[in-house]
Amino acid sequence: MQAIRDRLRELYGSPVNQPHGHPIAELVRTVLSQNTSDTNRDVAYARLRERFPTWEEVRDAPTDELIEAIRPGGLANTKGPRIQAILSALGEHPDLDWLEEAPRGEAVDFLVALPGVGRKTAACVLIFSFDRPEIPVDTHVYRVGGRLGLFRERASFDEAHDEMRRVVDPDDAYELHINLINHGRAVCRPRPRCDECALRRMCPYWRRLRATSLPPVRAPRRAPLGLTDASSSLSASARSSAGRAGH
Ligand code: SF4
Repeated sequence: MQAIRDRLRELYGSPVNQPHGHPIAELVRTVLSQNTSDTNRDVAYARLRERFPTWEEVRDAPTDELIEAIRPGGLANTKGPRIQAILSALGEHPDLDWLEEAPRGEAVDFLVALPGVGRKTAACVLIFSFDRPEIPVDTHVYRVGGRLGLFRERASFDEAHDEMRRVVDPDDAYELHINLINHGRAVCRPRPRCDECALRRMCPYWRRLRATSLPPVRAPRRAPLGLTDASSSLSASARSSAGRAGH
């Protein structure tokens, strides 16, 4: 794990978290970020806050007005009601500041019990608001982490979250989250660029790829002394098969 961290650090630097201390804002921003770009999310979030400055106003707004405000973020008909459902579940005066000091299990359990909130959103709230050591497993972290063997490649997202938290040093959580995303965008894309990847020597996916794509062993040009043409060709063919089977 440290070797992966260090290699990623050489490539992408050592990003430092700057927790902002606003968990409800993070929660709403994460809902808005689903299936859209960061730019569109930011536009939607800015419009939301401008139109409804308090969380109570967002919660109590006519839903069609809220939908209109966040429309640039896409899927507004789904996200608007979801944001209001979350805020309604937070009581009369929505407040999540207590999550900063709450036991980790209690904090995660509370967040994932909110309407439409899963492990990734819960992890985003805890790490970006309070620098609590969680690793949100988004699509990049899931793809790159699975290929690098940080968790089973076909693990559920919940299992991936649990494994990442188990194998990653809490002090490295933010850095690894950001740098796995950087690597997923730059090199380990859906169609990975393994030939130019600085992590390939430590990557089980690459080793597997290499083993299955080795060229077959070629027959020698001339038969070795003492062998007939027929036995030479049979020998080469057998070694070729053995070579493929052995990798
Ligand atoms: S070697 Fe390939 S699969 Fe492994 S991390 Fe690099 S790009 Fe991804």
